[in-house]
Amino acid sequence: MSRGDMAKPLLGHGSTEGDPSITPASGRTIGVLGSGDFARSLAIRLVCSGFKVVVGSRNPKRKANLFPSAAEVTFQAEAVKKTDVIFVAVYREHYSTLCDLADVLAGKILVDVSNNMEINHHKESNAEYLASLFPACTVVKGFNVVSAWTLQSGARDGNKQVLICSNNQEAKRTVAEIAQVMGFTPVDMGCMSSASEIENIPLRLLPAWKIPIFLALGLFLCFFTYNLIRQVIHPFIREQKNKFYKIPIEVVNTTLPCVSYVMLSLVYLPGVLAACSQLYYGTKYRRFPDWLDQWLQHRKQIGLLSFFCAALHAVYSLCLPMRRSHRYLLIETAVKQAMEKKMNIWVEEEVWRMEIYISVGIIALGLLSLLAITSLPSIANSLNWREFSFVQSSLGFIALVVSTLHTLTYGWSRAFDENQYKFYLPPTYTLTLLVPCTVIIAKVIFSLPCIRHRLLRIRRGWEKGRYVKFVLPSATGEYSSGETSSNV
Ligand code: NAP
Repeated sequence: MSRGDMAKPLLGHGSTEGDPSITPASGRTIGVLGSGDFARSLAIRLVCSGFKVVVGSRNPKRKANLFPSAAEVTFQAEAVKKTDVIFVAVYREHYSTLCDLADVLAGKILVDVSNNMEINHHKESNAEYLASLFPACTVVKGFNVVSAWTLQSGARDGNKQVLICSNNQEAKRTVAEIAQVMGFTPVDMGCMSSASEIENIPLRLLPAWKIPIFLALGLFLCFFTYNLIRQVIHPFIREQKNKFYKIPIEVVNTTLPCVSYVMLSLVYLPGVLAACSQLYYGTKYRRFPDWLDQWLQHRKQIGLLSFFCAALHAVYSLCLPMRRSHRYLLIETAVKQAMEKKMNIWVEEEVWRMEIYISVGIIALGLLSLLAITSLPSIANSLNWREFSFVQSSLGFIALVVSTLHTLTYGWSRAFDENQYKFYLPPTYTLTLLVPCTVIIAKVIFSLPCIRHRLLRIRRGWEKGRYVKFVLPSATGEYSSGETSSNV
C-alpha cells in the first residue's frame, strides 16, 4: 500500500463534521503498548486520522523505524505517562509483564484488543483478566474484530464495525469516538460481561453457514448415490455395460440441479410451516419451535447455496458437448442411422421439449441470480422493505415455479415410462418435485381470500379466543361496555 493511500482518513473527517454530538477526538494523544503487527497498523491509522501517537516498546530503538515518523516510539513507562488512552497491543500471556507499569497506568483507559487461539479458551475474557491485573484502570474491550490488515486497508475492503464493551460508559464513549474518527463504526455491546462473546467472534468459522452447508452436502450425497445407482450401477448389472465414465460429469450434473431445486424449496418451506402454525394456533405471538426458528434464520444461506448449485449445473451443462464420450456417441448414432438409411431423425416433440427446457432453465437461473445479488448486504441495504420483500418473497416464489417448469419439461413423460424405473426406482426428477410442489400448493392455498385474510389479521396482531373490550351506545345515548371474543 502506498504511503499516499494511508494518508487518507477512511471516511474523511467530513462525516463527523457538523455533528455536535461528536467531540473532535482527533488531536488527542493515544498510547499504544507493543510494537508488533497490530500496534504498527493501529499507529499508522491513528496518525492518518489526526491523532498524536506514542508507542511504548521494551526496545524502542530497534522498533522505531517500523513506525511512521509522526509517531513517537519510546519506553513503555514514558509512553504511558503521555496519554490517558492506551491500546494494549500485546498478547494476554504477556499482560503480567506490564504489572510494573501499574502505578503510571492508574486512572487511565486501557483498550484491550487481544484475541485468543480457541473459542472460550480461558474462563474469564482477556479484557476481564486485564481489568483484574489493573484494578485502578478502566478497561474497554474493542478493535479485536479488526485485523491489522483491515486497519491498513480501511473502509474500502475490510469490515468497518468495531465492537466495544466496558463497565464504564464514559470510557466506552471515548473509545467509540476514536473508532469513529478512524472511519470505523463503533457498536456498543454493553458491559464487560460481553467481552468473551466479542473475543469469540473472530474465531468463528462461518457460523451461519454450517447447517446450510451440511444440508447441501447431505442432499448432494443422497441424490448422487441415487443417480449413480440409476445411471451407472443399473446398466452395469443388468446389461453389463460400462458407464462409469458418466460419474465425473453426467452424474454430478444430474445431481446438482436436484440439490439446487430442493434447496430453493427449502427456503420457502419454513415460511409455509410458520403460516400453518399461525393459522392453527390463531396467533403470531406463540414461539415457533427452535428447529423452525433456526431454519427461518438460515434461509438466506440456503438460497445462496441453491444458486451456487444452479450456477454449477449451468456450467456443467454447457460443457457436456465438449466431452469425448459425447462426440463418440454422436458419431456412433450417425453411423447407425446411415447404415439403417434413416434420413429424417427430427422428432418434433423432443425439439420443443428441449427448447422450452433450456429457455425456462435460463430464466430460472436469471431469477436466482437476482435473488442472490439482492441478498448481499450492500444491495439489500439500498432497497426499502417493500422492494426487498417483493424480490425475496414474490420473485423467489416465481423462481420456484419456473424451476418446477424446468424440471417438468426435463422429465416430460418419463414418469409414465416403465423403462425409466431402474431397480424399481423412479426417475430422480419425480423425487425432487415432492417438496417444491408441496410449497407451491400450500402457497396457492394461502392466497385464497378467506385464508389470506385470516393470516393477514393474525400477522397484524389478531388472536383466536382473545377477549376484547367493546363499547356500545345504549338506548339512552350513554355508553355501556362489555366483553366479547374477538374471533366471534
Ligand atoms: P505481535 O506482532 O507478536 O506483537 C506483540 C507485541 O507485544 C510485541 O511486538 C512486543 O512489543 C509486545 N510485548 C510486550 N510484552 C511482551 C512480552 N513479554 N513478550 C513478547 N512481546 C511483548 O502481535 P500482534 O499481531 O501485533 O498482536 C498484538 C495483540 O493484538 C494480540 O493480543 C492480538 O490478539 C491482538 N490482535 C491482533 C490482530 C492482528 O491482525 N495481528 C488482530 C486483532 C487483534 P515490544 O517488543 O516492542 O515490547
